[in-house]
Parts: sequence; structure tokens; C-alpha cells
Amino acid sequence: MAVITPPSYVRQVLTTLQAHGNAAYLVGGCVRDMILGVHPQDWDVCTSALPEAVLALFPGSRPTGLQHGTVTVVLGAHQVEVTTFRLEGGYADHRHPDEVRFVGDLTADLSRRDFTINAIALSSDGILVDPFGGVQDLRERRIRCVGVAEERFEEDALRMFRALRFSARLGFEIEGSTMAAIEEKAPLAATLAPERIRDEVEKLLLTRQPEKLAVLIGAGLLDRFLLRRADLEFRLLRLGHLPRKALFRWAALCVLLEEAGCIDSAERFLGALRLDHRSIRCCSDCVSLLHTQPPVSRADWKRLLRVCGVDSADCAARVRDALYGGHCRKALREVLKSGECFSLKHLAVGGDDLLALGLRGRALGDMLNFLLDYVIEFPENNRRELLLSLAGSTEEN
Ligand code: ATP
Ligand code: MG
Repeated sequence: MAVITPPSYVRQVLTTLQAHGNAAYLVGGCVRDMILGVHPQDWDVCTSALPEAVLALFPGSRPTGLQHGTVTVVLGAHQVEVTTFRLEGGYADHRHPDEVRFVGDLTADLSRRDFTINAIALSSDGILVDPFGGVQDLRERRIRCVGVAEERFEEDALRMFRALRFSARLGFEIEGSTMAAIEEKAPLAATLAPERIRDEVEKLLLTRQPEKLAVLIGAGLLDRFLLRRADLEFRLLRLGHLPRKALFRWAALCVLLEEAGCIDSAERFLGALRLDHRSIRCCSDCVSLLHTQPPVSRADWKRLLRVCGVDSADCAARVRDALYGGHCRKALREVLKSGECFSLKHLAVGGDDLLALGLRGRALGDMLNFLLDYVIEFPENNRRELLLSLAGSTEEN
């Protein structure tokens, strides 16, 4: 096992629980990551202590999910999630357990976890508890359900998305019967809230292998959001050329899905997945911009910036470069660096100046736009006096 030791505040949580007669272990993602030699993002502890006892032992701790037995222990600037050993029963809606039962037994708690690699516990004296062969699966780079895969996906359909996300993040294969169960149970994805699917898809998009989204789509997990399925693995390889920023990868995904005939509107697709309005706008601008030829002259770039703003232009430039090659981003950066005006905000005259010249209403708006057009062509002329005299003489004619 790689030598990653938990920080002292995590050890303190374990030893405090144990000193009061409770069993306490590190569990889940942090144990998986430690074995892989990766520094865990967060530390989860499971314990035989009931939530009320955990709250009493750690002043300042918060009951974050009492019905699930989770308490957030706050130690200085750090937080540790402490969850009471529990079993779940009945999943009538394929999402939430109908019943959560606190149990005294670690193995029972591990058995309700999704994959063997996430069902390993580690005690404070370095003993691994691994009843489902998670360490071997880590060694053999495999995602495998704890127990019967079909049943586990029936309980919670989100686990199918998680399987593919971990596979993309860790570069692991999905074991045969687990993959077969994903294909069989994919229609259950329809029972999940779109927001939860969005979060999983986004996490997958941000891994080192975003093209694995093609497997998810191929299995039918996104059917309710797509016009049709397609074999996308090769196409989606290009997603990895974009920086790991959600907006860029969503935008590129929309372009590629549209290209493959899987969606006909980025706005509809992302709206159904409940992305925020700003991202939807940016992605759909990006798809529209990619339908047109890239700007050639500096003035063309400024006209584009004027219409869609810096964020959408930057996103479209990055997506175009990553998917089709080219140097749009460099060209855009140069335009932005030049400081040349492309918006009314930076025009050397404003509405008040034109009011003083006697312009009103529509005529005033038209004049501002005319002056902006002019300045976009002749950036050196974005000077107040010059524009006022131009406005004055144009108005007289
Ligand atoms: P990450 O590094 O992405 O946070 P993680 O394994 O810690 O990975 P979490 O979503 O934080 O993932 O969940 C913590 C642990 O809780 C998992 O390792 C797993 O044991 C369990 N778990 C989480 N979600 C589920 C689920 N839907 N079904 C069963 N077990 C789950
Ligand atoms: Mg986690």
C-alpha cells in the first residue's frame, strides 16, 4: 500500500471515537485513493457510534444528514464526515432507500456501498477490512458492484452513472457482469432527477477520459435527453483536447452531439439537464458560432464580441481550436489585448452626450450603434471630440 497517512485531524476523529468505546474506520473514496497512492479530496469515517453520540463528542459538529446518520465534524479549518454504520432497505423509487437502519456491524455497512473499490475500510492501526475483494479489484483495475449488480442498480439507478464516472476517472474497466447489468437496467435512469444526472455527467466530462461518456450514451443512460443513440467513442475523444473546465466541455459536447444527430438544440438538451442559464446561453451561442466561418479580420472578431460577449466568444474559440484545429483563441486574445472598443460600454461617447446634441429615443440608439460600427472599423478614432462632431454632422444631414 502506498504511504499516504491521514492528517492529524482525521486521526484525532478516529481516536476520539475509539477512546469512547466505539468502532471507527476510514471508509469509501479516501481508502480507495490512499491505496492508489492518490491524496484523498475528503475523508469519510464510519463508526458504530450513533449520530447523537458523535455530536456530543465533537463540539461544533453539525448534523448534516441525521436521517442517514451523517454528522460533519469540524476541527479548525477542516471537516470530516462521520457516518454511523447503517443498512438500507427497500428502494421503491430506484433512488432513495425506504428505510435506513443503524447497525453495529462494519461489514453490513460496507455491503450497502456501491462498488468493491469503495467498500474497503481502514482502521487507525492500519488494518484493512475488505470483505468484497476491493483491494484485488483495485490491483486489477476493475469496477465491480458489491453483490448482484442488477439488484444494486435497481436500488439506485445513479450507481450506473457512478460506475462509468469512476471508470473514466481511474482508467479502470467495468467488470463484465456489472457492465451487462448497466445495459439491462439503463431504462431505470428515467427515474432519476435530471440534476443528479447532470452532476454525474459533468464529473465524468471533467475526468481524463471524457470520451467514456460514449459508453454511457451507448448503454442508453441518456436516452431521455437525446434524439437517438450513436457510436460516439471516436468522436468524443476530442473532448479531452479542451481544458478541464465544465463550460468548455459541455459546449464541445453539444457541438459533437449535434454533429452526430443526437441533439438538435443545445438549449433544449442542456435545459432538460437543468444546467444554469448562463452556461446554457454560452453553449448555445458556441454551437451557433461554430455553424459559421471563423472571423478573419480584427473587425470581424470585434463584431462577434459585440454580439455575443467575451465569454461565449472565448468558449467558441477554444471549442473550435480543440475540435477542428486552428488558432482562434490566439486571434481572439490579440483582439482583447489591443483594448480596441467593441461594445457601447467602451465607446468614447455615451447616451448623455447624444442627448445633449438633441437626439432622442430610437434616433439616439441608432446613432450609438452607428458610432460603434464606425469605431469597430476605425479603432483609432474612438475619441470623444471626433465622435461628437461625427454625430453632429451626421445628424444635420
Ligand atoms: P469522490 O472522490 O468522487 O468523492 P467517493 O467514493 O468518495 O468519490 P462519494 O460520492 O463521496 O464518492 O461517496 C462516498 C462513499 O459513499 C463511496 O465511496 C461509497 O462507498 C458510498 N456511496 C456513495 N454514493 C453511493 C451510492 N449511490 N450507492 C452506494 N454507495 C454509495
Ligand atoms: Mg467523496
